[in-house]
Amino acid sequence: MFRLYGLKGDGGFMFYSVAVDGPAGSGKSTISKIVAKELNIVYIDTGAMYRAVAFYCIKNGIDTKEQKAVIAVLDDIKIDIKLENNTQKTYVSGENVTDKIRSQEIGAGASDVGVIAEVRKKLVDIQRDMAKGMSVIMDGRDIGTNVLKNADVKIYISASADERAKRRCEELKNIGVEHDFELVKNKIIQRDKNDMTRENNPLKKAEDAIYIDTTFMGIDEVKNTVIKIIKEKVGL
Ligand code: C5P
Repeated sequence: MFRLYGLKGDGGFMFYSVAVDGPAGSGKSTISKIVAKELNIVYIDTGAMYRAVAFYCIKNGIDTKEQKAVIAVLDDIKIDIKLENNTQKTYVSGENVTDKIRSQEIGAGASDVGVIAEVRKKLVDIQRDMAKGMSVIMDGRDIGTNVLKNADVKIYISASADERAKRRCEELKNIGVEHDFELVKNKIIQRDKNDMTRENNPLKKAEDAIYIDTTFMGIDEVKNTVIKIIKEKVGL
C-alpha cells in the first residue's frame, strides 16, 4: 500500500505513527531517538511518564507497591512533557526531573505503578493526546497493543537478558556508577516479569508488529532496519 504523507487535497496534513515496544534495556529508546531525528518526526518516551509517577511517590514517601496510596495522590501529580530542542523533557509539579528519573530505583518503581489501571488510564490519555496532529515514534510496553492500536508501523525490539544486562552495565560504567552484572541482570529479569505478567496491558508483541532481535546487532544496523521498515510501510 502506498500512502502519501504531507499536504492533503483539503490543505490539511497526513501524519504517520510508529509504535515501538520491548523489554527493559532492549535499546528501543536509543533507536527511537535516532530514527526520530533522521526522519524528522517527534519521539515520545512513555516510560518517562511512569517514571515521573514513581518519582513523585518516592519523593513524597509513598510506597510504589501500595496501590491505594498511589491512587489517592494521582490527581495531585502534575506531569508535563515538553519538547525542548526536539528532546523530551519531563516535569513533575514544575520540577525538571528528566535526568533524576533514570535511576534503577525509579525504573523499578515505574514498573510497580504501571500495574495500576488508574495510573495507566491517566498516562495513556496524555500519550494519545500528544500523538495527535503530528508524526511520531512512541516507545513503551503497550504502544502497539493499546495506546496506538492503529499505528502505521509497529515494531517489537528485544535482545537476550545477558545482552541487555551487558548494555545496562556499560551505561552505568559510563556514568561512573558501581555495578554488579548478576544483580543488574536479575533486576532486568524481575522488571520484565512484572511487565509481562501484569493484568492491565502487559508487555507483549502486537500481532501485526515486526520483531527485531538485536542481540547480535549494532546500533546502526538496528536503526537502518527500522528506517527501512518504516519507509516501506508508510511509503516515504
Ligand atoms: O521504558 P522504561 O524503562 O523507561 O519504563 C519504565 C517502566 O514503566 C517499565 O518497566 C514499565 O513497567 C512501565 N511502562 C509501562 N508502559 C509503557 C512504558 C513504560 O508500563 N508504555
